[in-house]
Amino acid sequence: MSSQTSAIVENSLQILLEDPTYLPGLQDEIREKAFKSLASILSTPNRMHKSFLRVPLDNGEVTRIPAFRTQHNDTLGPYKGGIRFHESVNEEEVINLAALMTLKNALHEVPFGGGKGGVAINPRHYSARELYLICKKYVQYFSDVLGPHKDIPAPDVGTGEREMDWMMSEYKNINPGKPYRGSFTGKSVVNGGSLGRREATGKGVYYTFRYLLHDFSKDQPLGISGSNHPMAQSVIGGADRPLALGIQGFGNVGSVVALEAYRCNHLQNKVVAVSDRNITLFNAEGLDIPTLVSFAASHSGDLPSTPEELAESGVSAEIKGREEILYLEIDVLFLAALEDQIRDDNVERVKARFIVEGANAPVTGEADQILLNKGCMVIPDILANAGGVIVSYFEWLQGRETQFYTEAQVFELLHSKMKATMSAIYPLYFASSRSLRQICYTHAVMKLSTNLYIQGKLY
Ligand code: GLU
Repeated sequence: MSSQTSAIVENSLQILLEDPTYLPGLQDEIREKAFKSLASILSTPNRMHKSFLRVPLDNGEVTRIPAFRTQHNDTLGPYKGGIRFHESVNEEEVINLAALMTLKNALHEVPFGGGKGGVAINPRHYSARELYLICKKYVQYFSDVLGPHKDIPAPDVGTGEREMDWMMSEYKNINPGKPYRGSFTGKSVVNGGSLGRREATGKGVYYTFRYLLHDFSKDQPLGISGSNHPMAQSVIGGADRPLALGIQGFGNVGSVVALEAYRCNHLQNKVVAVSDRNITLFNAEGLDIPTLVSFAASHSGDLPSTPEELAESGVSAEIKGREEILYLEIDVLFLAALEDQIRDDNVERVKARFIVEGANAPVTGEADQILLNKGCMVIPDILANAGGVIVSYFEWLQGRETQFYTEAQVFELLHSKMKATMSAIYPLYFASSRSLRQICYTHAVMKLSTNLYIQGKLY
């Protein structure tokens, strides 16, 4: 687990330990021991599987590619989490991401544990045939530990429906006659996937923001307007005037956040900036997001990055450097790219008042503290980007029941699940001086530890 995650988990345990109303049945003499057990259970994964996939390339060479599957914790259900294809994938990163999955599922009461997989490649450097072989090999090497009731992978950075279809097909080959539909989620709809899964993470990310600034602040029974919480005025102010939004990352998450924000025009917020791995596009009057989405769809996912491409797309915007998105004069910054984007070396340049974490761990621990001190509110990853795993859960259920929901039903269920979490979390946040991240982690750790205690695993 990264030092940031373990520090925040330890803080959560301390907060719970000092709360006499928490686990009241636990006698004093074993209370402290139980919390020590919890700390060690949560800070280490149950299992770490790693291998070098032997893959024959198109040029006739055979390469060995590092691949991982971490099973962090299964207290609440089978391990669950994506498989990432990215050149920076490494053991420590996969462990940290798996721990975040455990906390994310606990926070939103998704009946899964936490896992994560990774393959250390840049998928853009491999042909479709090579990627197909990598997917098959991954399942061959790890099939013993995967399965609909053991560990259920899904897409992550660098993977999508195509990879999940290939992987489930290999799982089926290896396990003839066994149930397989629930072995992978994020599959294509014709292959048993769920309608709405592709958009689910982005939809959920935008919803956490919209709910906080526009719905919660209006129908909040506690009346946060009366609250002297330092963020309350920003939230209320945010609800009353149009906001300038910037979105880092234009992949599966960022492009959906951008479209959601663009289409929510009754709120009059404007998406003034988007970015991808090459550039930032800026227009103070608002960007034409649907046109940018169509352009990216026909250009390997990339935004127009030169004046010629911009002219070809017909979108009016200024081209800026890739990192510039982070430092613009905007109200809200959605981080939907990779981890460690806002760090202690660049956090002072960030001007947004709100940050929403669409990616996992895009703000480092040091930067998080500085943002808190600056009065910038961060909606953390485990709260904001859970839409993917929530709809994965619906996909898993639909596969089990062989009964499928309409897209409208999926989004309604998604919103009501996220709303249930937010209605529990936001009042706690506005009643305390802790960061929203700390409140979310403490809530997740409380759910996990209550289960571990009930299951007799803490003493
Ligand atoms: N990779 C996504 C995440 O980080 C989705 C995981 C899943 O659906 O299991 O939340």
